[in-house]
Amino acid sequence: MPRPEDSPWAVPVAQVASRAGQSKTVDADFPAPSGIGDEVIGVEEGAPVRVTGSFDSIVDGLILTARVTAPVHAECTRCLKPIRRDWGVDVTAFFPYESERDANRGRDDGKGEVDIIAGEEESEDTYPLLQGGAFADLEALLRDTLVEKLPLQPLCREDCKGLCSQCGVDLNEHPDHHHETTDIRFAGLAALKAQLEADGQGDGKGE
Ligand SMILES: [Zn+2]
Ligand SMILES: [Zn+2]
Repeated sequence: MPRPEDSPWAVPVAQVASRAGQSKTVDADFPAPSGIGDEVIGVEEGAPVRVTGSFDSIVDGLILTARVTAPVHAECTRCLKPIRRDWGVDVTAFFPYESERDANRGRDDGKGEVDIIAGEEESEDTYPLLQGGAFADLEALLRDTLVEKLPLQPLCREDCKGLCSQCGVDLNEHPDHHHETTDIRFAGLAALKAQLEADGQGDGKGE
């Protein structure tokens, strides 16, 4: 049966959790949890996610203030080129000291059961401590943070020129690329002619 401390996302925090005003530095890689993004944009499960910051104890819990950096894979929304880059997000999360819910978790952990206490609604950046405050588990925090902060419109670079809307040529590689626009002008003239004819008919009927 897995113990909480065996989780790759468990951070021992018993020392700081003992009294308020303590601080513990975190600077380590954690495996990316599953379910972050999709094939278009996301973080591969198990990829190293860097967490740099600190746990600070206050009266009723621990506050984690950290920078989370993950290798994001994506596709440029303009030119469709694959992008691989580290994506940094600042997080602040609260780990309250033992509540009824935590106590249940401590006992039941490893059995795969999820405790749901009716009427208890936790804010999304609050996470449980395990084993009576001995460990902070970062799995849910990392998943929530990265899912929430993934860029919706990733670009390979700010000024990506994208692809030609007519033939799909990469305009970054062919900045002078263009098509003759005579067809479009003729189309415009044809539309104007049709409009004039339609107006003419309308006048005729009106008289
Ligand atoms: Zn691009
Ligand atoms: Zn073109």
